[in-house]
Amino acid sequence: RKLGYAIVGLGGYATRQIMPQFRNCRSSRLVALVSGTPEKLARYGDEYGIPKTHRYSYANYDRIRDNPDIDIVYVVLPNNMHAEYSIRASQAGKHVMCEKPMAVSAAECEAMIAAAKRANRKLMIGYRSRFEPHNVLAIQLARQAHVGRTRIVTAEHGFNAQPNQWRLDKALAGGGSLMDIGIYSLNAARYLTGEEPVSVTAVESTDKSDPRFRTVEDQINFMLRFPSGAIADCVSSYSSNHNRYRVVGTDGWIDLEPATSYEGQRMRIRKDGKEAVRDVPPGPVNQFVGQLDHLSECALTGRQPIVAGEEGLADLRLIEAIYRSAREGRQIKLA
Ligand code: NAD
Repeated sequence: RKLGYAIVGLGGYATRQIMPQFRNCRSSRLVALVSGTPEKLARYGDEYGIPKTHRYSYANYDRIRDNPDIDIVYVVLPNNMHAEYSIRASQAGKHVMCEKPMAVSAAECEAMIAAAKRANRKLMIGYRSRFEPHNVLAIQLARQAHVGRTRIVTAEHGFNAQPNQWRLDKALAGGGSLMDIGIYSLNAARYLTGEEPVSVTAVESTDKSDPRFRTVEDQINFMLRFPSGAIADCVSSYSSNHNRYRVVGTDGWIDLEPATSYEGQRMRIRKDGKEAVRDVPPGPVNQFVGQLDHLSECALTGRQPIVAGEEGLADLRLIEAIYRSAREGRQIKLA
């Protein structure tokens, strides 16, 4: 059986990356749309053959409760709306897929997890890289100590942000580069080591005279220390382009560049003094399809998603510690 998805928020990511992927899904189909813009509902509704009864505005959003075709609600809105629209979906008895960052605070993440639990429904975060074959292999190799014991992870994510967008408004985005793109460095450091950090140290550098950065940070780099002794050295930027990570072990390294992009991943490995590109088979489906079908299959079988709400919460707790470290100019020890 294919579970039915409702997409909430018809912006760039939903319409260009996610919606076209349903045709390749095994366990998921697109059945409903939610948008505040009637023209978008009409245009995408017609394009995807969504009946008028399955097109919702934000005003009548809660009526998804009465639509048995909708099994899963996928929240693809600005970050400050993730918690509210996810919780209302849980309360309507639906499973939830929510985009990263899960919310704008750890407290909001906790409320989302509680709402899903109360409704006895799944909650998953859109960490698509966990379904991308190069990343899956990198995790496997790092955890098997293929290049020896992991000592250092370097992870760099950034882009030069265009002005005048919600990402640059703290009220909507919750923060700057760290919330949007640095979170990929943070999440990778955690999934590559398979550990939770014991301390964090962060340094911010933002040109406050740049009108893009009136309310949010530009660069914020951070270091995480893990219980094994591994250290992650991470870049987050809204003024320079980065998309790579490297796991450095006692006997070599594993390098991905680009690492977490939509496509084009490339892996290189240095081991026993030899360096080579590692061919990674594409896998039966791409990362977007893998992500969508994973939640459907978890909902059908009762399994817990590999990137459940708790993963998003762990990142938001660390994001709060990173901001605090930068603000207070000191290392933050974590429980
Ligand atoms: P976008 O600006 O293209 O789309 C946002 C949508 O929200 C628009 O349709 C807009 O109309 C709607 N919206 C509703 N209320 C709004 C308000 N008050 N202000 C602004 N927009 C409002 O953004 P996007 O790039 O599609 O990002 C949406 C979410 O998806 C974000 O949480 C982002 O972090 C996430 N995202 C994830 C990935 C990924 O690779 N996983 C990639 C891009 C975006």
